Amino acid sequence: MIKLIVFDLDDTLYNEFQFVQNGFKAVAEYLSHKYLIDSKELQSKMLNILNEYGRGKIFNVLCEKCGFIEAMNDLVFIYRNAKCKLNLYDDAYYILEKLRYNYKLGLITDGKASVQWNKIKCLGVENYFDKIIVTDDFGRMYWKPHEYSYKKMLEYFKCEPQEAIYVGDNPTKDFIGARKVGFFTVRIIREFGDNMKLKEEKGYEADFTINNLKELINIIQLLHLKK
Ligand SMILES: [Mg+2]
Repeated sequence: MIKLIVFDLDDTLYNEFQFVQNGFKAVAEYLSHKYLIDSKELQSKMLNILNEYGRGKIFNVLCEKCGFIEAMNDLVFIYRNAKCKLNLYDDAYYILEKLRYNYKLGLITDGKASVQWNKIKCLGVENYFDKIIVTDDFGRMYWKPHEYSYKKMLEYFKCEPQEAIYVGDNPTKDFIGARKVGFFTVRIIREFGDNMKLKEEKGYEADFTINNLKELINIIQLLHLKK
C-alpha cells in the first residue's frame, strides 16, 4: 500500500531553465544600471555564452567580452538570490493537487541550500509538502545519491520503504539511493531539461519511466493491486 510520494524539484516539478533566465535577468539589470548597456542585450549574450560554454563560467566570459570589472562572487550572489515568480509544470500542479489529500507528500532536492530554498519560495510550493528536505542542509556529502535523506523521510512519516515512491528526472543520482533504501522509483522524461537524454547506467535506472506526472496515478494503482 503506497502512503508516501516524494518528489525531486528541479526539472521534475518545474522547468529549471526558468530559474536560470530569472537569474540572468537580475544580473543583466544590475550590470545594465552600472555600465548603461541595454539589459535585454546582456541577457541574450548570457544565453549565447550558456549555449556555447555550458554552465560554470558564464559571468567570467561575459565580463571578459564586455570589459566589465566585477567580482564574480557578487554576480553569482545576485543570480542565486534573484527574487522571481517560478511556475510549476501543469502536470505537476495537477498531480500535487490530486495527491495531497490522500497521500503524504515529500520533497528532496539537491543544490546549494540557500538557492534551493529560494526556488521553493519562488514556486510557492511549501504548502503542498508535509516534509521538505534540502540535502545541502545536512552537508555536501549528503547530496543525492546519498541514502540519508530518503531514510530521514521514511523516519519522519513512520513509513516502510515499500510504501514510498520517489519521483525524479536525473538517472545519475535520483534513483540509486532511493532504491538502496527500498523506495519504488519513477523517472520523468520531459521535453526540456539537462538530464532528459541521459542514459541510465545499470543499477541507476528507475522502476518506471513516465513522460507526464499524471501517469503516476496508474503506477500507484498498479502498486496497490500488487499488494
Ligand atoms: Mg532534478
